[in-house]
Amino acid sequence: MNPLLDFSALPRYGEIEPEHVAPAIDRLLAEARDAVKRAEQANPTWEAFVEPLDDANERLARAWGQVAHLHAVLDSPGLRAAYNESLPSVTQYWTALGQNLALFEKYRALRESSEYAALSPARRRIVDHALRDFRLGGAELPAAQKTRFARVHEELATLSAKFSENVLDATNAFSVVLEDERRLAGIPADALAAAREAALKDGAGNGKPRWKFTLHMPSWLPVMQYAEDRALRETMYRANVTRASEFGKPEWNNTQPIAAILRLRREAALLLGYRNHAEVSLVPKMARTPGEVLGFLRDLAKRARSYAERDAAELREFARAELGIATLEAWDYAYASERLRKKRFDFSDHEVKQYFPEDAVLPGMFRLAETLYGVRISQAQAPAWHEDVRFFEVRDRAGERIGQFYADLYARDSKRGGAWMDEAIARRRKNGRVQTPVAHLICNLPRPVGGKPALFTHDDVITLFHEFGHGLHLLLTRVEDLGVSGLSGVEWDAVELPSQFMENFCWQWEVLAPMCRHVDTGAPLPRGLFERMIAAKNFQSGLDMLRQIEFAVFDMRLHSEVDPDASALELLDEVRREIAVLLPPAYNRFPNAFSHIFAGGYSAGYYSYKWAEVLSADAYAAFEEHGVLDPGTGARFRDEVLAVGGSRPALDSFRAFRGREPQVDALLRHNGMIVAPSA
Ligand SMILES: [Zn+2]
Repeated sequence: MNPLLDFSALPRYGEIEPEHVAPAIDRLLAEARDAVKRAEQANPTWEAFVEPLDDANERLARAWGQVAHLHAVLDSPGLRAAYNESLPSVTQYWTALGQNLALFEKYRALRESSEYAALSPARRRIVDHALRDFRLGGAELPAAQKTRFARVHEELATLSAKFSENVLDATNAFSVVLEDERRLAGIPADALAAAREAALKDGAGNGKPRWKFTLHMPSWLPVMQYAEDRALRETMYRANVTRASEFGKPEWNNTQPIAAILRLRREAALLLGYRNHAEVSLVPKMARTPGEVLGFLRDLAKRARSYAERDAAELREFARAELGIATLEAWDYAYASERLRKKRFDFSDHEVKQYFPEDAVLPGMFRLAETLYGVRISQAQAPAWHEDVRFFEVRDRAGERIGQFYADLYARDSKRGGAWMDEAIARRRKNGRVQTPVAHLICNLPRPVGGKPALFTHDDVITLFHEFGHGLHLLLTRVEDLGVSGLSGVEWDAVELPSQFMENFCWQWEVLAPMCRHVDTGAPLPRGLFERMIAAKNFQSGLDMLRQIEFAVFDMRLHSEVDPDASALELLDEVRREIAVLLPPAYNRFPNAFSHIFAGGYSAGYYSYKWAEVLSADAYAAFEEHGVLDPGTGARFRDEVLAVGGSRPALDSFRAFRGREPQVDALLRHNGMIVAPSA
């Protein structure tokens, strides 16, 4: 039997071969299409229409999820080919489902029927979300407008692709090749080795050693941070901030694509009956209006401002007194910052990671979840995809299993970079029985060497806690319907709450002290080292915060206030005069490479980074108030935030936990910006 078609228990990792993929996916697609056809004819009730469709879609999603998962963590030529072969038909299926008008009508009929009021709040929310997504996809438009709406979206997709291609082409086109070794002073050895290799790849030159630097981050950043040659830094800075602008090749200039994207986004919003793109972007988010977001950002900017001014003054003074830089310029910021950081907090990752061996960190992290949420986590056996993988069970106090997860922590060639949590199985009730959730916890941490446990840097530990936070959101849910169980259906700007929340514990003495021990001597983490880690964390946090707020205000105003024919650059200048403490040179063309909002999914959404951070910091502050390991506060966080998933608005969940609206004070305090208690 094809292991991808077995849904009776855990995925049969270890048995899945590339040749299983196409037959299983084709069959599940056919079944799902049949289910759609039946749903189109069914009575518009939950049992007759939503549930059978959910069942078919869940089977497809689970099987395809296993294939995509293996593609990400154990890539091989055979699997890649199988994945790419089935990908288009799977994508087509989901796209068609989202545009299926017959289904839209069924959802609408269900919404208008007497059954709707009798549904559970979770199910009502699933119906509402479905209708919302159909509407935002243009399902309700009259025929002529629908054609235009589709055309606008196609043009937008093309323009976004063109925008990124221009950025990429402009990035790739620039390089500086140096032959004079004196100009390399300060640049770290590994960056120099990479530059040397890059120059060699281009040819032997005249036999003399040469070094090639580019605008790709691993090449560009070390120059900006460490190169003592100020002219070299200026050249690299200017090249970076004028990418895809009128200063480069005309065919890579993003000025016109930006204007066209803004015009088309406005047009699509007007067709849907909104005033601007920002209003559309906010519909599925927690923030309600552009004005609310701008008010939030401006308030945060006001509070961070004096700290940013202090950071800037320190930097200027340090550069003048110790680096001989009379006027600090944009190409000096990173360099002066690094020098100041080194002078002030001279400890290394190497020193810190001796206290974070894996066999202390992992049990420490599990103990934390056990203390806060009253669960027990124990290792168990399950078929896995690689010998590195470990498998764990989560049980409640009564010993009942509530979830399971795989942890695949070490980097290897066959694994995609980065760290993530994803869902293998979501919690739901089906035929009277509860299906418990299963998570994948994936990282790219260093593996053990030399017979010692793996050693993690503090950043590694934060990453692990972050992904575990997403995992707990999935595993501790009590929701019984797909669509709002776990992370599903949670607003986009609130989904990072549980993960960023967990990061806070990595900065807490009460958590680290019992967890950390020196890998060789078993000695506890020295308090002095911990204090220096905290101080380094908040280094120049005022400037960092204002920079993020500047981008977020620009993004929100651009998509809500600005006449599409006005200049994005002029708006950015205005925003900078309002928000920024350090002003860039006039030739800076930041918008021309701001891919997050012109090519990524962050348009009128860049504020989400700070928004979710306010929620997570404020939620964590409740633990600081009651004791960071207080089980009572933990139980409330579990019940009101983690357990409810997307079954109610995130703001309601936050209020239920905190007893009030979110406040920014905790975020400021965690960034070293102490605010007086507000009245
Ligand atoms: Zn995350």
